[in-house]
Amino acid sequence: MTTNDLTQLRDKIDGVNLQLLKLLNERAEIVQEIGEHKEKQGVARFDPVRERQALDLIIKNHDGPFQTSTIQYIFKEIFKASLELQKDNHNKALLVSRKARPENTIVDINGEKIGDGEQRFIMGPCAVEGYEQVKAVALAMKEQGLTLMRGGAFKPRTSPYDFQGLGVEGLQILRKVADEVGMQVVSEILAPQDVEKALDYVDVIQIGARNMQNFELLKAAGRVKKPVLLKRGLSATIDEFINAAEYIISQGNDQIILCERGIRTYEKATRNTLDISAVPILKKETHLPVVVDVTHSTGRKDLLLPTAKAALAIGADAVMAEVHPDPAVALSDSAQQMNIPEFNEFMDVVKAFKNKLA
Ligand code: PEP
Ligand code: MN
Repeated sequence: MTTNDLTQLRDKIDGVNLQLLKLLNERAEIVQEIGEHKEKQGVARFDPVRERQALDLIIKNHDGPFQTSTIQYIFKEIFKASLELQKDNHNKALLVSRKARPENTIVDINGEKIGDGEQRFIMGPCAVEGYEQVKAVALAMKEQGLTLMRGGAFKPRTSPYDFQGLGVEGLQILRKVADEVGMQVVSEILAPQDVEKALDYVDVIQIGARNMQNFELLKAAGRVKKPVLLKRGLSATIDEFINAAEYIISQGNDQIILCERGIRTYEKATRNTLDISAVPILKKETHLPVVVDVTHSTGRKDLLLPTAKAALAIGADAVMAEVHPDPAVALSDSAQQMNIPEFNEFMDVVKAFKNKLA
């Protein structure tokens, strides 16, 4: 074979490659059209029966140098890539995605903003235990110029015998203190039927990690005109987290704050593993503001400050942490809540850090 022959054969291969490319793209366009039809009809995109038929037809007509198993493998890869193409189209259509809305969503909590570029702090006790306890935290927050106060009235506890929260009485305490001191209230709601009830008391409905895929709760929160703080599930992927937010926005409520609060891994040094890179990923993939909860992600007081700095440096819209006037006697998360002097120290350092970043 001369060099000339080889060049000719290579030219031929290039020609065939281009034909294949053209055919693959033609095929992809047809697949997209099928995807749109399926979307309209609400039919599942993956259809194993149809795929089997397509493969059988290919194999029946195959008599080239490739082994049947090789051909089957190549076509399976083409099928898989096509299915993924449909998935991409699906993601493009998500209402929470940047593709759907390029500009940042700014969540407005009675005039207090999250997602406007200014990094904020959501602080407060793990659980509401009484008026005096909440008031002490609120006053300390006010001293620090903070206005977004968290506190659980309905507590999702691992054990049914642990303190479950004060319920509506807890919400009433939060509201009373918030009105006296000038705070906005962020509090978790556990059940869809409590969403309406909570509207009189809370300014932001929190949906906790354990309820991230409680679809009825997500839909109920999506139907009201109140900002929602949605926490990432204990073992939820970013895709599942984004889809949980989609449940809320699909009902009409776009006032959603995403909260990274650590995920379950094999690591035991921290209560959960803070997935810090979730912050820029969520901000890139969605138009929603992102908060980092440093208390539940680390479960360690000594890590609150470094993780809060990391959250601010990586672009979180707010940092959440727990504060209790006397953590030693707290009815939940006693080991990881800051007392008031610790909170003041924490705030002084993070504020200085934030200013350095700006
Ligand atoms: C909370 O913030 O009070 C809480 C229970 O956190 P999570 O749902 O993230 O565990
Ligand atoms: Mn807690």
